[in-house]
Amino acid sequence: MALTLSKKAQAVKPSSTLSITAKAKELREKGIDVVGFGAGEPDFNTPDNICEAAIRAIQNGFTKYTPASGTLELKKAVCDKFEKFNGISYQPDQIVISNGGKHSLTNIFQAILNPGDEVIIPAPYWLSYPEIVKLADGVPVFIRAEKEQNYKVTAEQIDAACTGKTKAFILNSPNNPSGMIYTREELEAIAKVAVKRDIYVVSDEIYENLVYDKEKQVSIASLNDEIYRRTITCSGLAKSYSMTGWRIGYTGSSKEIAKVMGSVQSHQTSNPNSIAQKAAYEALTGSQDSVCAMNQEFNNRRDYMYERVSEIKYISALKPQGAFYLFVDISEILDKEYKGAKVGDVTNLAKLLIEEYNVAVIPCVDFGFCDHIRLSYAISMDQIKKGLDRIEDFTNKLV
Ligand code: GLU
Repeated sequence: MALTLSKKAQAVKPSSTLSITAKAKELREKGIDVVGFGAGEPDFNTPDNICEAAIRAIQNGFTKYTPASGTLELKKAVCDKFEKFNGISYQPDQIVISNGGKHSLTNIFQAILNPGDEVIIPAPYWLSYPEIVKLADGVPVFIRAEKEQNYKVTAEQIDAACTGKTKAFILNSPNNPSGMIYTREELEAIAKVAVKRDIYVVSDEIYENLVYDKEKQVSIASLNDEIYRRTITCSGLAKSYSMTGWRIGYTGSSKEIAKVMGSVQSHQTSNPNSIAQKAAYEALTGSQDSVCAMNQEFNNRRDYMYERVSEIKYISALKPQGAFYLFVDISEILDKEYKGAKVGDVTNLAKLLIEEYNVAVIPCVDFGFCDHIRLSYAISMDQIKKGLDRIEDFTNKLV
Protein backbone atom coordinates (compact mmCIF):
# COMPACT_ATOMS: atom_id res chain seq x y z
CA MET A 1 0.00 0.00 0.00
CA ALA A 2 1.50 3.34 -1.06
CA LEU A 3 1.98 6.04 1.55
CA THR A 4 -0.98 8.08 0.29
CA LEU A 5 -3.08 10.56 2.21
CA SER A 6 -6.81 10.83 2.75
CA LYS A 7 -8.46 12.30 -0.37
CA LYS A 8 -11.14 13.89 1.78
CA ALA A 9 -8.66 15.63 4.05
CA GLN A 10 -6.49 16.72 1.15
CA ALA A 11 -9.48 18.33 -0.54
CA VAL A 12 -9.97 20.70 2.40
CA LYS A 13 -9.00 24.28 1.64
CA PRO A 14 -7.15 25.97 4.51
CA SER A 15 -9.11 28.80 6.13
CA SER A 16 -8.16 32.00 4.30
CA THR A 17 -9.53 34.19 7.11
CA LEU A 18 -7.02 32.61 9.44
CA SER A 19 -4.13 32.55 6.96
CA ILE A 20 -4.59 36.20 5.95
CA THR A 21 -4.74 37.18 9.60
CA ALA A 22 -1.58 35.18 10.30
CA LYS A 23 0.15 36.87 7.34
CA ALA A 24 -0.77 40.34 8.68
CA LYS A 25 0.55 39.37 12.11
CA GLU A 26 3.78 38.05 10.64
CA LEU A 27 4.36 41.32 8.76
CA ARG A 28 3.60 43.31 11.91
CA GLU A 29 6.16 41.26 13.83
CA LYS A 30 8.70 42.23 11.17
CA GLY A 31 8.00 45.87 11.99
CA ILE A 32 5.71 46.59 9.02
CA ASP A 33 2.77 48.82 9.89
CA VAL A 34 -0.05 46.60 8.56
CA VAL A 35 -3.73 47.36 9.11
CA GLY A 36 -5.56 44.04 9.49
CA PHE A 37 -9.20 44.05 8.40
CA GLY A 38 -8.95 40.24 8.38
CA ALA A 39 -10.35 37.84 10.96
CA GLY A 40 -13.40 38.64 12.99
CA GLU A 41 -11.60 38.79 16.27
CA PRO A 42 -12.54 41.55 18.75
CA ASP A 43 -9.58 43.70 19.75
CA PHE A 44 -10.85 44.02 23.34
CA ASN A 45 -9.37 42.07 26.22
CA THR A 46 -11.58 39.35 27.67
CA PRO A 47 -13.50 41.12 30.48
CA ASP A 48 -11.83 40.97 33.91
CA ASN A 49 -14.64 39.11 35.69
CA ILE A 50 -14.30 36.28 33.15
CA CYS A 51 -10.51 36.09 33.48
CA GLU A 52 -10.82 36.09 37.27
CA ALA A 53 -13.23 33.14 37.15
CA ALA A 54 -10.65 31.21 35.12
CA ILE A 55 -7.90 32.04 37.61
CA ARG A 56 -10.14 30.86 40.47
CA ALA A 57 -10.80 27.62 38.56
CA ILE A 58 -7.08 26.94 38.35
CA GLN A 59 -6.47 27.85 41.99
CA ASN A 60 -9.36 25.61 43.08
CA GLY A 61 -8.00 22.67 41.11
CA PHE A 62 -10.82 22.63 38.54
CA THR A 63 -8.29 21.29 36.08
CA LYS A 64 -9.44 17.71 35.48
CA TYR A 65 -11.76 15.98 33.02
CA THR A 66 -15.36 17.15 33.06
CA PRO A 67 -18.30 15.27 31.50
CA ALA A 68 -17.56 15.00 27.76
CA SER A 69 -20.46 17.21 26.69
CA GLY A 70 -19.78 19.85 29.37
CA THR A 71 -20.51 20.55 33.02
CA LEU A 72 -24.07 20.53 34.30
CA GLU A 73 -23.47 23.98 35.78
CA LEU A 74 -22.60 25.48 32.38
CA LYS A 75 -25.38 23.57 30.58
CA LYS A 76 -27.89 25.05 33.02
CA ALA A 77 -26.50 28.53 32.41
CA VAL A 78 -26.83 27.96 28.66
CA CYS A 79 -30.46 26.80 29.14
CA ASP A 80 -31.21 29.99 31.10
CA LYS A 81 -29.63 32.10 28.41
CA PHE A 82 -31.63 30.32 25.68
CA GLU A 83 -34.83 30.86 27.68
CA LYS A 84 -34.29 34.52 28.56
CA PHE A 85 -32.46 35.79 25.51
CA ASN A 86 -33.77 33.60 22.68
CA GLY A 87 -37.16 32.45 23.95
CA ILE A 88 -36.23 28.79 23.42
CA SER A 89 -36.80 26.17 26.08
CA TYR A 90 -34.07 23.51 26.34
CA GLN A 91 -33.20 21.12 29.18
CA PRO A 92 -29.54 20.41 30.09
CA ASP A 93 -29.63 17.04 28.27
CA GLN A 94 -30.34 18.95 25.06
CA ILE A 95 -27.15 21.00 25.37
CA VAL A 96 -23.64 20.07 24.20
CA ILE A 97 -20.76 22.34 25.18
CA SER A 98 -17.93 22.15 22.64
CA ASN A 99 -14.51 23.57 21.86
CA GLY A 100 -15.89 26.53 19.93
CA GLY A 101 -18.34 27.30 17.15
CA LYS A 102 -16.49 25.30 14.49
CA HIS A 103 -16.45 22.30 16.77
CA SER A 104 -20.19 22.58 17.40
CA LEU A 105 -20.82 22.69 13.65
CA THR A 106 -18.53 19.69 13.17
CA ASN A 107 -20.48 17.78 15.83
CA ILE A 108 -23.79 18.70 14.22
CA PHE A 109 -22.89 17.51 10.74
CA GLN A 110 -21.19 14.37 12.05
CA ALA A 111 -24.40 13.65 13.93
CA ILE A 112 -26.96 14.22 11.16
CA LEU A 113 -25.32 13.46 7.81
CA ASN A 114 -24.96 10.23 5.88
CA PRO A 115 -22.72 10.08 2.79
CA GLY A 116 -24.25 12.08 -0.07
CA ASP A 117 -26.75 14.02 2.05
CA GLU A 118 -27.16 17.56 0.77
CA VAL A 119 -26.89 20.71 2.87
CA ILE A 120 -28.22 23.98 1.46
CA ILE A 121 -25.85 26.89 2.12
CA PRO A 122 -26.87 30.42 1.13
CA ALA A 123 -24.09 32.56 -0.38
CA PRO A 124 -22.56 34.73 0.92
CA TYR A 125 -21.54 32.23 3.59
CA TRP A 126 -18.80 31.83 6.15
CA LEU A 127 -16.06 29.91 4.40
CA SER A 128 -15.87 27.05 6.90
CA TYR A 129 -19.44 25.78 6.33
CA PRO A 130 -18.80 23.92 3.06
CA GLU A 131 -15.57 22.40 4.32
CA ILE A 132 -17.15 21.17 7.56
CA VAL A 133 -20.08 19.67 5.61
CA LYS A 134 -17.70 17.90 3.21
CA LEU A 135 -15.63 16.51 6.08
CA ALA A 136 -18.84 14.90 7.35
CA ASP A 137 -19.41 13.31 3.89
CA GLY A 138 -22.16 15.80 3.02
CA VAL A 139 -22.62 17.71 -0.22
CA PRO A 140 -22.92 21.52 -0.04
CA VAL A 141 -25.61 22.96 -2.32
CA PHE A 142 -25.26 26.71 -2.79
CA ILE A 143 -27.99 29.21 -3.40
CA ARG A 144 -27.22 32.86 -3.98
CA ALA A 145 -28.54 35.91 -2.19
CA GLU A 146 -27.84 38.95 -4.36
CA LYS A 147 -27.10 42.44 -3.12
CA GLU A 148 -30.54 43.51 -4.41
CA GLN A 149 -32.11 41.06 -1.95
CA ASN A 150 -29.95 42.39 0.91
CA TYR A 151 -27.84 39.23 0.68
CA LYS A 152 -30.68 37.20 2.19
CA VAL A 153 -32.21 34.15 0.50
CA THR A 154 -35.95 33.69 0.27
CA ALA A 155 -37.98 30.72 1.42
CA GLU A 156 -38.85 30.10 -2.26
CA GLN A 157 -35.16 29.78 -3.16
CA ILE A 158 -34.66 27.23 -0.39
CA ASP A 159 -37.72 25.31 -1.47
CA ALA A 160 -36.51 25.24 -5.09
CA ALA A 161 -33.08 23.92 -4.01
CA CYS A 162 -34.54 20.99 -2.06
CA THR A 163 -34.16 17.52 -3.56
CA GLY A 164 -34.83 14.06 -2.19
CA LYS A 165 -31.33 14.18 -0.70
CA THR A 166 -31.61 17.48 1.18
CA LYS A 167 -30.93 17.00 4.86
CA ALA A 168 -30.38 20.50 6.23
CA PHE A 169 -30.28 24.21 5.59
CA ILE A 170 -27.72 26.51 7.24
CA LEU A 171 -29.11 29.76 8.57
CA ASN A 172 -26.66 32.40 9.82
CA SER A 173 -28.26 35.56 11.18
CA PRO A 174 -26.64 38.02 11.84
CA ASN A 175 -24.66 36.92 8.85
CA ASN A 176 -20.94 36.63 8.34
CA PRO A 177 -19.89 38.30 5.99
CA SER A 178 -22.89 40.52 5.12
CA GLY A 179 -24.02 41.59 8.61
CA MET A 180 -27.65 41.15 7.53
CA ILE A 181 -30.37 39.91 9.87
CA TYR A 182 -33.42 37.87 8.84
CA THR A 183 -36.73 39.31 10.06
CA ARG A 184 -39.30 37.29 11.96
CA GLU A 185 -41.51 37.17 8.84
CA GLU A 186 -38.65 35.90 6.68
CA LEU A 187 -37.85 33.25 9.28
CA GLU A 188 -41.48 32.19 9.49
CA ALA A 189 -41.50 31.58 5.74
CA ILE A 190 -38.20 29.65 5.93
CA ALA A 191 -39.52 27.59 8.86
CA LYS A 192 -42.59 26.63 6.82
CA VAL A 193 -40.38 25.30 4.02
CA ALA A 194 -38.17 23.38 6.46
CA VAL A 195 -41.25 21.75 8.02
CA LYS A 196 -42.83 21.00 4.64
CA ARG A 197 -39.60 19.48 3.30
CA ASP A 198 -38.85 17.81 6.64
CA ILE A 199 -35.27 19.04 6.83
CA TYR A 200 -33.08 20.25 9.69
CA VAL A 201 -32.22 23.89 10.17
CA VAL A 202 -28.74 24.49 11.52
CA SER A 203 -29.05 27.97 12.97
CA ASP A 204 -25.65 29.54 13.60
CA GLU A 205 -26.34 32.43 15.98
CA ILE A 206 -22.76 33.21 17.00
CA TYR A 207 -23.28 36.97 16.32
CA GLU A 208 -26.60 37.14 18.22
CA ASN A 209 -25.37 39.78 20.70
CA LEU A 210 -23.85 41.98 18.02
CA VAL A 211 -26.96 43.69 16.76
CA TYR A 212 -27.24 47.45 16.12
CA ASP A 213 -29.87 50.17 16.07
CA LYS A 214 -33.33 48.79 16.66
CA GLU A 215 -32.69 45.49 14.90
CA LYS A 216 -33.70 42.30 16.65
CA GLN A 217 -32.19 38.89 16.19
CA VAL A 218 -34.90 36.20 16.22
CA SER A 219 -34.05 32.55 16.85
CA ILE A 220 -35.89 30.35 14.36
CA ALA A 221 -36.33 27.59 16.97
CA SER A 222 -38.46 29.98 19.05
CA LEU A 223 -41.14 30.29 16.36
CA ASN A 224 -43.16 27.09 16.93
CA ASP A 225 -42.88 23.47 18.05
CA GLU A 226 -42.48 22.01 14.58
CA ILE A 227 -39.46 24.12 13.71
CA TYR A 228 -38.07 23.76 17.25
CA ARG A 229 -37.89 19.98 16.73
CA ARG A 230 -35.98 20.39 13.46
CA THR A 231 -33.55 23.09 14.55
CA ILE A 232 -30.10 22.79 16.02
CA THR A 233 -29.25 26.18 17.49
CA CYS A 234 -25.55 26.87 17.65
CA SER A 235 -23.70 29.69 19.38
CA GLY A 236 -20.59 30.42 21.40
CA LEU A 237 -18.71 32.87 23.58
CA ALA A 238 -15.93 34.00 21.23
CA LYS A 239 -17.50 37.00 19.54
CA SER A 240 -19.83 38.42 22.21
CA TYR A 241 -17.38 38.18 25.11
CA SER A 242 -14.12 38.64 23.23
CA MET A 243 -13.12 35.06 24.07
CA THR A 244 -11.84 33.83 20.71
CA GLY A 245 -8.90 31.91 22.18
CA TRP A 246 -10.86 30.21 24.97
CA ARG A 247 -12.77 27.98 22.53
CA ILE A 248 -16.22 27.44 24.01
CA GLY A 249 -19.25 26.87 21.80
CA TYR A 250 -22.58 25.20 22.48
CA THR A 251 -25.66 23.76 20.81
CA GLY A 252 -29.30 23.28 21.73
CA SER A 253 -31.10 20.49 19.91
CA SER A 254 -33.32 17.46 20.42
CA LYS A 255 -32.11 15.04 23.12
CA GLU A 256 -31.38 12.43 20.44
CA ILE A 257 -29.06 14.69 18.48
CA ALA A 258 -27.38 15.95 21.67
CA LYS A 259 -26.72 12.36 22.73
CA VAL A 260 -25.12 11.46 19.41
CA MET A 261 -23.05 14.66 19.39
CA GLY A 262 -21.92 13.98 22.96
CA SER A 263 -20.79 10.47 21.99
CA VAL A 264 -18.89 11.75 18.96
CA GLN A 265 -17.24 14.44 21.06
CA SER A 266 -16.31 11.96 23.80
CA HIS A 267 -14.04 10.20 21.30
CA GLN A 268 -12.81 13.27 19.46
CA THR A 269 -11.76 15.66 22.19
CA SER A 270 -13.04 14.41 25.57
CA ASN A 271 -14.43 17.49 27.30
CA PRO A 272 -14.05 21.16 26.44
CA ASN A 273 -11.34 22.82 28.53
CA SER A 274 -12.43 22.77 32.19
CA ILE A 275 -11.05 26.24 32.97
CA ALA A 276 -12.70 27.79 29.92
CA GLN A 277 -16.01 26.24 31.00
CA LYS A 278 -15.77 28.06 34.35
CA ALA A 279 -14.94 31.26 32.48
CA ALA A 280 -17.92 30.71 30.16
CA TYR A 281 -20.20 30.22 33.15
CA GLU A 282 -19.11 33.60 34.51
CA ALA A 283 -19.54 35.20 31.08
CA LEU A 284 -23.14 34.00 30.79
CA THR A 285 -24.23 34.58 34.39
CA GLY A 286 -22.09 37.59 35.45
CA SER A 287 -22.43 41.28 34.63
CA GLN A 288 -23.14 42.00 30.95
CA ASP A 289 -21.87 45.60 31.18
CA SER A 290 -18.72 44.92 29.18
CA VAL A 291 -20.78 43.33 26.40
CA CYS A 292 -22.86 46.51 26.16
CA ALA A 293 -19.73 48.67 26.13
CA MET A 294 -18.13 46.59 23.36
CA ASN A 295 -21.34 46.72 21.34
CA GLN A 296 -21.50 50.49 21.61
CA GLU A 297 -17.96 50.73 20.28
CA PHE A 298 -18.69 48.31 17.41
CA ASN A 299 -21.73 50.40 16.57
CA ASN A 300 -19.61 53.59 16.35
CA ARG A 301 -17.04 51.87 14.17
CA ARG A 302 -19.73 50.45 11.91
CA ASP A 303 -21.27 53.90 11.38
CA TYR A 304 -17.92 55.46 10.61
CA MET A 305 -16.80 52.68 8.31
CA TYR A 306 -20.04 52.56 6.38
CA GLU A 307 -19.97 56.35 5.80
CA ARG A 308 -16.34 56.32 4.69
CA VAL A 309 -16.73 53.33 2.36
CA SER A 310 -19.76 55.02 0.78
CA GLU A 311 -17.53 57.99 -0.09
CA ILE A 312 -14.65 55.99 -1.62
CA LYS A 313 -14.61 55.66 -5.40
CA TYR A 314 -15.63 52.36 -7.04
CA ILE A 315 -16.65 50.57 -3.84
CA SER A 316 -19.92 50.33 -1.94
CA ALA A 317 -21.58 48.36 0.85
CA LEU A 318 -24.95 47.90 2.47
CA LYS A 319 -25.09 49.07 6.06
CA PRO A 320 -24.66 45.98 8.24
CA GLN A 321 -27.33 45.37 10.88
CA GLY A 322 -25.21 43.07 13.03
CA ALA A 323 -21.91 41.15 13.42
CA PHE A 324 -18.74 43.20 12.81
CA TYR A 325 -18.09 43.05 9.09
CA LEU A 326 -18.62 45.32 6.13
CA PHE A 327 -19.24 43.31 2.96
CA VAL A 328 -17.85 45.54 0.24
CA ASP A 329 -18.82 45.32 -3.42
CA ILE A 330 -15.62 45.90 -5.42
CA SER A 331 -16.96 44.75 -8.82
CA GLU A 332 -16.21 48.15 -10.42
CA ILE A 333 -12.52 47.84 -9.55
CA LEU A 334 -11.91 44.57 -11.36
CA ASP A 335 -11.76 46.16 -14.83
CA LYS A 336 -9.64 49.11 -13.70
CA GLU A 337 -5.90 49.31 -14.14
CA TYR A 338 -3.31 49.76 -11.42
CA LYS A 339 0.22 50.68 -12.56
CA GLY A 340 -0.61 49.65 -16.11
CA ALA A 341 -2.08 46.21 -15.34
CA LYS A 342 -5.70 45.22 -14.94
CA VAL A 343 -6.68 44.39 -11.36
CA GLY A 344 -8.58 41.40 -12.81
CA ASP A 345 -9.78 39.47 -9.78
CA VAL A 346 -10.45 39.93 -6.11
CA THR A 347 -7.54 37.76 -4.99
CA ASN A 348 -5.16 40.01 -6.91
CA LEU A 349 -6.86 43.06 -5.41
CA ALA A 350 -6.24 41.70 -1.90
CA LYS A 351 -2.63 40.96 -2.88
CA LEU A 352 -2.10 44.51 -4.15
CA LEU A 353 -3.62 45.97 -1.00
CA ILE A 354 -1.41 44.01 1.36
CA GLU A 355 1.79 44.22 -0.66
CA GLU A 356 1.60 47.84 -1.77
CA TYR A 357 -0.60 49.48 0.88
CA ASN A 358 -0.10 47.29 3.95
CA VAL A 359 -3.82 46.61 4.30
CA ALA A 360 -5.07 43.06 4.89
CA VAL A 361 -8.61 42.39 3.60
CA ILE A 362 -10.51 39.15 3.01
CA PRO A 363 -11.21 38.44 -0.67
CA CYS A 364 -14.60 36.75 -0.58
CA VAL A 365 -14.04 34.05 -3.21
CA ASP A 366 -14.22 31.47 -0.45
CA PHE A 367 -17.41 33.11 0.83
CA GLY A 368 -19.11 32.50 -2.53
CA PHE A 369 -18.74 36.07 -3.88
CA CYS A 370 -15.90 36.76 -6.31
CA ASP A 371 -16.50 40.49 -6.49
CA HIS A 372 -16.61 41.40 -2.81
CA ILE A 373 -14.15 41.86 0.01
CA ARG A 374 -14.86 41.66 3.72
CA LEU A 375 -13.57 44.29 6.13
CA SER A 376 -13.78 43.49 9.83
CA TYR A 377 -14.43 46.38 12.20
CA ALA A 378 -13.31 44.40 15.21
CA ILE A 379 -10.20 46.61 15.17
CA SER A 380 -9.63 50.04 16.74
CA MET A 381 -11.04 53.22 15.23
CA ASP A 382 -7.52 54.54 14.60
CA GLN A 383 -6.67 51.42 12.63
CA ILE A 384 -9.95 51.64 10.72
CA LYS A 385 -9.24 55.26 9.74
CA LYS A 386 -5.70 54.48 8.70
CA GLY A 387 -6.75 51.41 6.70
CA LEU A 388 -9.54 53.22 4.88
CA ASP A 389 -7.21 56.13 4.03
CA ARG A 390 -4.89 53.61 2.42
CA ILE A 391 -7.70 51.93 0.49
CA GLU A 392 -8.78 55.37 -0.71
CA ASP A 393 -5.21 56.17 -1.86
CA PHE A 394 -5.28 52.92 -3.81
CA THR A 395 -8.63 53.60 -5.52
CA ASN A 396 -7.41 57.11 -6.42
CA LYS A 397 -4.60 55.54 -8.43
CA LEU A 398 -6.90 53.33 -10.50
CA VAL A 399 -7.59 54.27 -14.09
N1 GLU B 1 -15.08 33.40 12.22
C1 GLU B 1 -14.08 34.42 12.15
C2 GLU B 1 -14.02 35.02 10.78
O1 GLU B 1 -14.84 34.76 9.93
C3 GLU B 1 -12.76 33.93 12.64
C4 GLU B 1 -11.85 33.31 11.66
C5 GLU B 1 -12.37 32.02 11.17
O2 GLU B 1 -12.46 31.12 11.97
O3 GLU B 1 -12.72 31.94 9.99
O4 GLU B 1 -13.16 35.83 10.56
